[in-house]
Amino acid sequence: MSNCDLQAIYGCHVFSEDVMSQRLPKETFAELNNTIEKGTPLSSQAADVIADAMKDWAMEKGATHYTHWFQPLNGFTAEKHDSFLDFSKDGIHAITKFSGKALIKGEPDASSFPSGGLRATFEARGYTAWDCTSPAFLKEDSSGLTLCIPTAFCSYNGEALDKKTPLLRSVEALSKQVIRILRLFGDETTEHINVSCGAEQEYFLVDKKMWKERPDFVFTGRSLLGAKPPKTQEMDDHYFGTLKERVSAYMKELDLALWKVGVPAKTKHNEAAPAQHELAPIFETVNIACDHNQIAMEMMKKIADHHGMVCLLHEKPFAGINGSGKHNNWSITTPGGLNLLNPGKTPGENAQFLVFLCAVISAIDNHAALIRASAANAGNDYRLGALEAPPAIISIFLGDELTDILEQIESGEKHQTKFGGKLDTGVSSLPNLPLDTTDRNRTSPFAFTGNKFEFRMVPSSASIAGPNTVLNTVVADALSDIADRLENAKDFDSELNRLLADIIKEHKRVIFNGNGYGAEWVAEAKRRGLPNINNSVDSYEAFIYPESIRLFEKHNVYSETELRSRYEIKMEKYAKIVGIEAQTLLQMINRQIMPACLSYADKIAQSIVNIKATGIGCDTLPAEEILRKVSSNIASLNKATKKLERSIARSEQMSEDYIKYAKFSRDALVADMQEVRKYADALETVVGKEFWPIPTYNDLIYSV
Ligand code: ADP
Ligand code: MG
Repeated sequence: MSNCDLQAIYGCHVFSEDVMSQRLPKETFAELNNTIEKGTPLSSQAADVIADAMKDWAMEKGATHYTHWFQPLNGFTAEKHDSFLDFSKDGIHAITKFSGKALIKGEPDASSFPSGGLRATFEARGYTAWDCTSPAFLKEDSSGLTLCIPTAFCSYNGEALDKKTPLLRSVEALSKQVIRILRLFGDETTEHINVSCGAEQEYFLVDKKMWKERPDFVFTGRSLLGAKPPKTQEMDDHYFGTLKERVSAYMKELDLALWKVGVPAKTKHNEAAPAQHELAPIFETVNIACDHNQIAMEMMKKIADHHGMVCLLHEKPFAGINGSGKHNNWSITTPGGLNLLNPGKTPGENAQFLVFLCAVISAIDNHAALIRASAANAGNDYRLGALEAPPAIISIFLGDELTDILEQIESGEKHQTKFGGKLDTGVSSLPNLPLDTTDRNRTSPFAFTGNKFEFRMVPSSASIAGPNTVLNTVVADALSDIADRLENAKDFDSELNRLLADIIKEHKRVIFNGNGYGAEWVAEAKRRGLPNINNSVDSYEAFIYPESIRLFEKHNVYSETELRSRYEIKMEKYAKIVGIEAQTLLQMINRQIMPACLSYADKIAQSIVNIKATGIGCDTLPAEEILRKVSSNIASLNKATKKLERSIARSEQMSEDYIKYAKFSRDALVADMQEVRKYADALETVVGKEFWPIPTYNDLIYSV
């Protein structure tokens, strides 16, 4: 198989539908398909047959081990490898075995994963359960292949300890409500829908040798210091620029590795900042897209190492330079592939489209804080609202044409639409909506781009499960309200007209087609009463708003206990991240930066003495000026560092109460670190290059 034989390579390490149809008896294959599509329980006999076929396939390819692959609440993926080794009944011969029971259920002693109080370590262990909707695959590394079985991870009581379970529940919730709407528009056959998702992934590549010399990158994934270089992205010369050889070789290896495990990597290019790149896959069912994004992130890091580089997935590796996000493209599709966010060709289809559109608008406005919280993490606080990423204010971009249509529906006035056709007697006789999909507002956090919504706040390092779980649930809720009203309507058409007009009237404040980066928008959003939550800690409160708890419980996505556990885990994670950053910065200042600055000051002082000693009357003023500048910055740095040190000592007393610790981290540690950095960065611009103890931004962003 040559490296160019894309078709043969794609999915060659996936236990795909094709492979199953070839290797499973017809009736087992049919039973499994029923389980995948309708959720009917799988018999233990079928599970045994599937497990055996899976083992044979994996072993033929060279695997000796399998793992239940799951996504605990730490945001990473977890695996514990078991070999297929067993003994014959007489206990004499080594055999290989993989039972249906082992395929379906695992019991990792996963007591060290965060559970936010859902499961005390002394209680029952967590269980992993096979998610047959996401195909098993073989993961490759230098030691060979391992069979990975995507699983959900739950406590003994069935509480979700992972990110996959709530995501699957949210798809079910959305599906249920979408079907109610489809029935109202005469679709009697569709039984469930899929959520489609394509996550564009941004990342940085830097040279590993340089990276290793920076404790901040090693411990925190981002730079805690660093003066801005004279040139970064001002000339727009990196965006879509020619790929450098080293980067291109990396991307090629990455594509190959991803294709093998069935991740449909499609687009790759240089991004806005130097050293920044993007990978976009072809969209897939959200559950699989989520698994695939986790695999992609893992491989991006692993393969960088083969090329002497490090892949940075942090949201803001470099201050003052573009950060990284994940554009989460989201739509609702029927099993037949019909996209329900596609404006239709007939007035009836258009009316249905407008119902889905208005449902999303009301959902986003009703739960803006929750949507914001779903994209919050410590790293993203440095990105959102930083005039290069979407602002922290949630708004929706619709474009002029759609906005015009909605305005007409709201006012009930008919006039020529912007694209020519005439809006006649309300929604049921809308003309075609030939929307211009090229009209893309890059500054909006939530943009309608023709036939999908693009949620651009999502953090680059995080799983996309959380944002999609929230998105699915809030839209399910809006659709449920709409269905309640329409199902009881005496005159469907006029009730539909009134309903859409009501939604638009109430929620149009969330629509904003202008420049989301401008300061005027912040003021305007305030006038409109839209929340502007500029930090993670505040945003996490939305998870435990009474209306959020009601929402998630109503749709069986999270129980109140599960929500509170997530709130606590997020707070704890935030506090720990900031705590580690503060400790790292303190060490770097004390052990690297301060000694370097003092050596430099000493060198200048010596040179003043030496110049004077020559007795030839040279002017020592320039050297004295440098020394004064360096010394005064050293004094300020020292003062700021001492303050940071005191705050760290105080924060250590709070480690029992993570909510308090998180709030203190945000209010004190983040500000103290900023102050320290101010003087360290000023010193970097005056201290001699050979004295500076760590690679600079200049070095790092042009290191590959
Ligand atoms: P951009 O201009 O933002 O780079 P693209 O048009 O290249 O956007 O698409 C970005 C992502 O959106 C890709 O991953 C693509 O597969 C995905 N995408 C396209 N159509 C849909 C859809 N209907 N639903 C969900 N994702 C989609
Ligand atoms: Mg995009």
